[in-house]
Amino acid sequence: MKLLYIPFDHLHRNYGVLKNADPASDQIVFVQSERMCDPSKWNPIRLYFLISSARHFARQLEAEGFTVHFMVAPTTRDGLESARKKTGIQEIMSAQPSSFRSEAMLADAEVEFVENDFFLTPRGLFHGWADGQKSYLMENFYRKQRVRLNVLMDGKEPIGGHWNFDKENRLPPPKGYQWPGYFRHTPDELDHQVAQELRIEAPLDWATTRDGALMQMDYFFHTHFAEFGPYEDAMTTENWALHHSLLSPYINNGLLHPSEVIEAAKNRFKMGDIPIESCEAFVRQIIGWREYINGMYWYLGADYRNHNQLKAERQLLPLFDHPEKTSMNCVRVSVEDTKSRGWVHHIPSLMVLSNLALLTGTNPQEFLDWMRREFIDASEWVMVPNVIGMGVHADGGQMMTKPYAAGGAYISRMSNYCKPCAYDPKLRTGDKACPFTTLYWDFLDRNRDAFAKNHRMAQQFGGLERLRDREAVKERAQQVLIGLENGTI
Ligand SMILES: Cc1cc2nc3c(=O)[nH]c(=O)nc-3n(C[C@H](O)[C@H](O)[C@H](O)COP(=O)(O)OP(=O)(O)OC[C@H]3O[C@@H](n4cnc5c(N)ncnc54)[C@H](O)[C@@H]3O)c2cc1C
Ligand code: SF4
Repeated sequence: MKLLYIPFDHLHRNYGVLKNADPASDQIVFVQSERMCDPSKWNPIRLYFLISSARHFARQLEAEGFTVHFMVAPTTRDGLESARKKTGIQEIMSAQPSSFRSEAMLADAEVEFVENDFFLTPRGLFHGWADGQKSYLMENFYRKQRVRLNVLMDGKEPIGGHWNFDKENRLPPPKGYQWPGYFRHTPDELDHQVAQELRIEAPLDWATTRDGALMQMDYFFHTHFAEFGPYEDAMTTENWALHHSLLSPYINNGLLHPSEVIEAAKNRFKMGDIPIESCEAFVRQIIGWREYINGMYWYLGADYRNHNQLKAERQLLPLFDHPEKTSMNCVRVSVEDTKSRGWVHHIPSLMVLSNLALLTGTNPQEFLDWMRREFIDASEWVMVPNVIGMGVHADGGQMMTKPYAAGGAYISRMSNYCKPCAYDPKLRTGDKACPFTTLYWDFLDRNRDAFAKNHRMAQQFGGLERLRDREAVKERAQQVLIGLENGTI
């Protein structure tokens, strides 16, 4: 007999340590650590999703005949030791965990690992690719993935004649558009029980079972897939999910495997009514971005999360916990949405929340911890490169060649946030100036030395040199930063 340890992000019967499991020779252990029980430290929506999904999955394994030990313990390590004592079984096996921290802790607890096959790219394969690169361009990795995995290929050529259709996408939200409704999930008695423990209402936005995750996937491919590409980067208060799939929580906790999502995308595309620019854009997210981010997490090492190359030391702004403390409409809406659902799509994450942290010089680790606490799909492997590398450029450009810094003009073009806002995206000085616009120029000014040799930023610095009111911008930036700290901007 041996114990199989199932972390809350390995919830798939056909992958990881469960692939070859047999109720006659294996017992199952889950551990809900106490840090997962405190809704004052984590977004309760996130805890609800993770805990209820794991409990449902444990039930499913019991129904299959497994003996399941669902331990609640101060730490995962304590839970595993208690399971050893309770069962008298010493041997514990698990699939390789998804973070450096868990890997060290489980190795110390003498847990044996089988390969983590919850991704499409083995870690060694990614290392091989990255070792051969001068700069780790996602696009280069993605093209290799298309060929290797044979996705949207016509022999050696990409279907549609191009690898990437981004030029056709990136549209702002259309006016007077009829957004399709959201898929509503029906919580069961176990969901309600978990919600009650966390002192919330069970949300309808998220499923906690494989059946629910499959329904969400089906709904996406039949209702949203065709329009996914064009409005992928748009932001609107008219619809919180737009045409995004809302699949990341399920792919990240194992209820869906990325290969199942790709198979479903390919099959749907074969039906002939999905434009290539939407299909390609979605496939790029799954076999490109997601795999690249996981590969980079393991490639860049455990210390990568501590980078702070721009020496950003500001404490987390109060608006991140109290969105009512800001009059910046885009920020208030994005923080409120994150808190109420544990999710906003990649552009509010990048161009509103991370952009604000970047431009205000907020400490990267404080911001990273906030994102980890709040997002339903936040795991260490995915949040660290997305925030440290992409969001706040704290790694000195190891991942991205230039920071995603933007003023109010970008947000104004891609959203409907600015019209009702107290500020004007076109202004950089004065009381009505958009804080993003002011801070953007001030950020460039403050970090001239750090980016002096970065040719990709020459155009932005050329713009800075041409500003006639640089002193006034600096002065306004100081007022904005003080106002943000005091909750008056
Ligand atoms: C600063 C920042 C932080 C992020 N943090 C997370 C996170 O903690 N967890 C997370 O899963 N995603 C994260 N992302 C990526 C992306 O925002 C989410 O995957 C996406 O919004 C999830 O919603 P969706 O399933 O509707 O995605 P869709 O837009 O429908 O995309 C399809 C899928 O592509 C994958 N994907 C796309 N981009 C990325 C990416 N950059 N990294 C990893 N997977 C990607 C996801 O699995 C997603 O489900 C982050 C992005 C940024 C810019
Ligand atoms: S004006 Fe500036 S702060 Fe207001 S919503 Fe637009 S970008 Fe955001």
